Amino acid sequence: MTAAFATDRVLIAGEWRAPASGETLPLVNPSDGSELARIAAGGARDVDAAVGAAEEALSGAWGRMTATERGRVLSAMGRLVAEKADELARLEALDVGKPLKQAKADALALARYLEFYGGAADKVHGETIPYLDGYTVLTLREPHGVTGHIVPWNYPMQIIGRSVGAALAMGNATVLKPAEEACLTALAFAYIAQEAGLPAGALNVVPGTGEAAGAALSAHRGVHHLSFTGSVATGALVQAAAAKNAVPVTLELGGKSPQVVFADADLDVALPFLVNAGIQNAGQTCSASSRILVERAVFDEVVARMAERYRALKVGPALADLDVGPMVSARQKEIVERYIGIARADGLAIAGEGGIVADAPAGGCYVRPTLVANVSGDHRLAQEEIFGPVQVVIPFEGEEEAVRIANGTDFGLVAGVWTRDGGRQLRMARALKSGQVFINNYGAGGGVELPFGGVKRSGHGREKGFEALYGFSVLKTVAILHG
Ligand code: NAD
Repeated sequence: MTAAFATDRVLIAGEWRAPASGETLPLVNPSDGSELARIAAGGARDVDAAVGAAEEALSGAWGRMTATERGRVLSAMGRLVAEKADELARLEALDVGKPLKQAKADALALARYLEFYGGAADKVHGETIPYLDGYTVLTLREPHGVTGHIVPWNYPMQIIGRSVGAALAMGNATVLKPAEEACLTALAFAYIAQEAGLPAGALNVVPGTGEAAGAALSAHRGVHHLSFTGSVATGALVQAAAAKNAVPVTLELGGKSPQVVFADADLDVALPFLVNAGIQNAGQTCSASSRILVERAVFDEVVARMAERYRALKVGPALADLDVGPMVSARQKEIVERYIGIARADGLAIAGEGGIVADAPAGGCYVRPTLVANVSGDHRLAQEEIFGPVQVVIPFEGEEEAVRIANGTDFGLVAGVWTRDGGRQLRMARALKSGQVFINNYGAGGGVELPFGGVKRSGHGREKGFEALYGFSVLKTVAILHG
């Protein structure tokens, strides 16, 4: 056991219990294939108890807290997370396989989300509306009630921060379903929340498979809002299940995010962003930049310089803290290798590859980061989300073609544009169909303040920033006729 707490429990009404099934599931360390811990195989009965506990919390100590008090608890949670950032980073590195420094950045991002939403909790409010003579009309911003949060394995801490953090700030009581591939930091987060004084039932955690725990949470009639982050296929299932109960859903799904490099770009600045945005977290990032569109005049130069960086990339165990860790699972490794196989079979040019260190354990899920050059915008590798350290480079000529290729996928999560031409920066920002557009940068350091979410199949609804607080609350209109 690597965690300093019991990992095989569900958290319901402030109590860590064995799941109703009495069964556990293995968590595998993707750096070497060993069993890391066992987690609870939660299911419908646990979800039902968790939703009940959340409902009770709303009429108990949690529901009675003022917005300022809620903010203080969240801020205290944030401080504790920051204090324990090294411990959390180690757990995340072992569980997800991400290099330690990336895991540490995630822990600090979780702390920052809690700090931000702690500070924001008492700053979101309704309005008064000028109306007919004799009336006073006001709006109250209220929590939905019980909110469900289904999160994936790739960035557990960040996604919990932006969804559970914002939901708690608005006074909702939450049920969290972490991913079965990686959930140690979700459990650690819940222990920290208890230590920081979050009242029982405000946060309930039910680990388990998607089919058992996730499906039960999506279909539960006692849930008033669902936040789902994961694949398009599962998101559609969650939305369909929620629709039966007319429950609103926020979907944060996949992407095939482009960075568009014009010939006038400052390539020295762009180069590290172009590559890092594709290989961070072994490419298992919803906003990974997996398509690099390059104007023909600088195409060969950009490919050569990216390839040079690829050749220097070192892949190895998460705790070795190299450039790239293993894929999260053998299944994910297989998916990525299949795409690399397609590139080779179709005769695409492999411009550069990273190397797996010699002492990487044989049981680890390692793949070599792969840069594929001269890909057509409609090739499978340029259309489908691979979710691995594979980038394709696509040539274009002029702004119009760049926009057509950039917008020519099912997705629309994030886009980057590299150009020194001010007019073009604004035209591109407007023309790109994407939830976020970054000009002469990519990701802006992850900013918790910046609303995030997709268009098209990348999802709908916004998390992060103040926008999330609006999403995790509802407006009530009160009209008083007083004469
Ligand atoms: P996934 O959809 O398989 O799993 C995500 C979560 O859904 C897990 O907790 C899983 O247990 C649960 N789940 C699975 N089946 C379910 C069901 N039938 N009902 C309810 N819940 C169910 O996704 P994944 O493969 O773990 O994650 C990778 C995907 O997530 C990628 O497509 C990636 O782009 C996307 N993602 C998006 C964002 C974003 O913010 N847009 C962030 C991270 C990951």
